[in-house]
Amino acid sequence: MGPIGVLSLQGDFREHLEVLNALSVPTVRVRTPEDLAGISGLIIPGGESTVIDKLSKIYELSIPIKALVAEGLPVFGTCAGLIMLANELLDATESQETFGGLDVVVQRNAFGSQVDSFETELDFKGIARKISAAFIRAPIVSSVGPDVDILSTLPNGQIVAVRQGNLLGISFHPEICEEYAVHEYFVAMCRTAKFAASN
Ligand code: GLN
Repeated sequence: MGPIGVLSLQGDFREHLEVLNALSVPTVRVRTPEDLAGISGLIIPGGESTVIDKLSKIYELSIPIKALVAEGLPVFGTCAGLIMLANELLDATESQETFGGLDVVVQRNAFGSQVDSFETELDFKGIARKISAAFIRAPIVSSVGPDVDILSTLPNGQIVAVRQGNLLGISFHPEICEEYAVHEYFVAMCRTAKFAASN
């Protein structure tokens, strides 16, 4: 398997690199189109989706990432990364765009300013124990298309993790909770997909 790329323009990409290092998975920091060559998966970190959108255009990464998503590259988006994978947004800024690929509607900053951060434990389909999750000005998935598998919800039913084919999107941050299970789940997806980006 080739390395897993971590989009390293803005946000908590260092924490994702640390988790992959702890799992002994080879990594590459993705900052230019050339960095995408040979990757077997890509992580889009949490941060600020409007900034990741702008920087990915400036660094000429937006078009090649969209193409790789369409070709079936396994991609894992956390929080702002989930926003970047959504086909449709609620509460986007006026010019905000996403890479898209996930047939979901994602609402940004869904918990409002009163409860903007919290930690909890979640059931996650495909992981045999509860996982630790930190929500930070988090989005939620407000609706899903027919091919989208819901992997985790909050007790009130709000959808916080989804998968569609090789795309995995979660509202929260396991990488700041010393929680490696979701990354292990994604690494297994990459091993199964055996994708090697040719850019
Ligand atoms: N609210 C942020 C956004 O819209 C996401 C927050 C996060 O990634 N922790 O991009």
